[in-house]
Amino acid sequence: MSQNTPYPRLFTPIDLGPFTLANRVIMGSMHVGLEEERGGMKKLAAFYAERAAAGTALIVTGGIAPNMAGALGPFGATMSRRWHVKQHRVIPEAVHAEGGRILLQLLHGGRYSHHPFCVAPSALQAPIGRFKPRALTRRGVQRTIRDYAHSATLAQQAGYDGVEIMGSEGYLINQFLVQSTNLRRDEWGGTFERRMAFPLAIVRAIRSAVGEDFLIMFRLSMLDLVADGSSWEEVVQLAQALEHAGVHVINTGIGWHEARIPTIASMVPHGGFAWVTQRLMGHVGIPLVTTNRFNMPDQIEHALESGCADLVSMARPFLADSQWVAKAQQRTPEHINTCIGCNQACLDHIFQRKTATCLVNPRAGHETDVDPQPTRQIRVLVVGGGPAGLSCAAELARLGHKVRLIEEAAELGGQFNLARRIPGKEDFSETIRYFTHQLKKFGVEVVLGRRADERDAAGCEVVVLATGVRPRIPALFDPRLPHVQAYDEALKQPPPTEGVVAVIGAGGIGFDVADWLTHQGDPHSFESAWGIDRELKERGGLSPNRPHRTSPVQVHVFQRGTEKPGQNLGKTTGWIHRVTLRQRGVQFHTGVEYLGTTSAGFRYRDQDGNERDFKCDRIILCAGQTSNPAPEFLNSVAFDRQRVEYIGGLKEARGIDAQRAIREGWELARQLR
Ligand code: NAP
Ligand code: SF4
Repeated sequence: MSQNTPYPRLFTPIDLGPFTLANRVIMGSMHVGLEEERGGMKKLAAFYAERAAAGTALIVTGGIAPNMAGALGPFGATMSRRWHVKQHRVIPEAVHAEGGRILLQLLHGGRYSHHPFCVAPSALQAPIGRFKPRALTRRGVQRTIRDYAHSATLAQQAGYDGVEIMGSEGYLINQFLVQSTNLRRDEWGGTFERRMAFPLAIVRAIRSAVGEDFLIMFRLSMLDLVADGSSWEEVVQLAQALEHAGVHVINTGIGWHEARIPTIASMVPHGGFAWVTQRLMGHVGIPLVTTNRFNMPDQIEHALESGCADLVSMARPFLADSQWVAKAQQRTPEHINTCIGCNQACLDHIFQRKTATCLVNPRAGHETDVDPQPTRQIRVLVVGGGPAGLSCAAELARLGHKVRLIEEAAELGGQFNLARRIPGKEDFSETIRYFTHQLKKFGVEVVLGRRADERDAAGCEVVVLATGVRPRIPALFDPRLPHVQAYDEALKQPPPTEGVVAVIGAGGIGFDVADWLTHQGDPHSFESAWGIDRELKERGGLSPNRPHRTSPVQVHVFQRGTEKPGQNLGKTTGWIHRVTLRQRGVQFHTGVEYLGTTSAGFRYRDQDGNERDFKCDRIILCAGQTSNPAPEFLNSVAFDRQRVEYIGGLKEARGIDAQRAIREGWELARQLR
């Protein structure tokens, strides 16, 4: 995108200045869990201010409810009392001091609110809801509209530059808009004109309360992805009515939370829903924002250049890298710490009522923590260039220490080099790229392709061992047999194109391997694989042709436990993996006892106690991991002269994942004195 490209519309009333990438990227709304924490406002202010200081022009806060009924959980954050003004003031002040602008997002959960006082247009419990909502009375509807306007007024008094009204993802406003969740017979239900009267009344009430210069952005659900959702004609009609009612900018919402189609997880193509926003371009005269799964500047430039939208919103990439905009502006994308769409440390944390942070950036959410100030430079040898070793070496060097990193393999990345081969996990390559550039930038000496020995340790004061894990090989499965392989060996080759494969182990890696084995049978486009109607002829954007996926490779996944396979997969992504494998015909066998391998497969006892021979072409072992010690090296280290530290899977293989590995490396680097 040329820096001089004329921008046809004014982004009123906030003029974001000249047309630069920074001025076309919005930091989208994301609840980070600090909203409800004691003293959380100061931390939130620091979190947003750091992003504003890096050039992020417009930020939207996490969702804040206009009243208690709309809070997402018990004691969820609201903007409803005068004292909230004082509490919030620190946020816009901090952002303005760095030259940024910030909107408060107003979000009423409706029937998605997880507390017994939740309300909705009709008393219909959500499939993902814990409580049956109370149907709002007519007075209750009026009161809710007034609460929105009151909240916006308080936000204005607190110093915010505007509000974003959350009208998507299946929350209260969506529940009013759609017939299946709005069975009302009064003026708020029935025809679409009546159903859309609720959001329009909210916008008008806010506009009359806050005046013309206060920015109102509306997050419009352009693709509900639920049966009986809004039709495309209704989406356009509402967008035009919102513009007339006083909305300045329309943001894109994709999919209700109860939709069974992934919308932001890693398997969604980058910018994979920009085509939806593009369909609305030209139907309204105000700027449109597109969103979902953007994480690098080239994707944003492409979306803007090809006319998909006027602006692009991203949320998680700003957790992964607070300096995202500065690096994009400086045209140094290689230094961006890219969000890999895993949800593991952000959304999964929020679902577990923990503060959000980031798998690839453990500092996220801890912006008020002061950087350690090392008093002297330490010479450190890091052994192992996987996630733990990479993050430790990069942080040590950033803090000014002298670091040498030795990796036995020919390339950096460790287990990430396996993960990035899994369909939909290609972004793990970006993390390796990021750390590789960090090592170079901060002068880490990197040695590849050989084991560390005593000469490497000799000149160092600290040795950090980060040699990771290796696959556990259950005693009954002999990997010397031609049809038995551990997952790391299997993933280094192309997947088979036919045959029967047994996967031993139904944890994260068993699921990943089953996905890799069956991926080739999937339709080429994401939309056809998940049954999305790109023509937008059907309500909710669901295709009448349900997804039909077959795999030429028959995969059977086994586990000894009787629990649900993939029990420990991520809260917000586990269902996607389960649906994908089920649709591709993968079969699961639980409660089995392995009895030994045979020349044509293996023998096991099933849950009912019957002994069975399972005939297959391959057995892939995904039975967890054990730590990968470096005994020769350890024997050579003079422990009396060097301090030795263990991190990542080497320290504790059980339950090791990338999040813990990166965090442990980073934390150790900040503790070394
Ligand atoms: P895991 O989740 O602990 O699963 C190991 C599997 O191996 C289990 O199904 C277990 O089931 C089986 N197993 C364990 N010991 C066995 C033995 N001696 N013989 C036969 N089977 C055995 O470990 P992982 O799959 O290796 O994953 C490692 C880590 O990475 C985990 O923390 C995981 O959550 C994470 N990860 C997550 C994802 C994701 O969320 N998508 C993807 C990849 C990795 P039984 O004991 O019941 O047989
Ligand atoms: Fe992105 Fe994963 Fe970090 Fe969340 S935890 S911001 S999805 S990289």
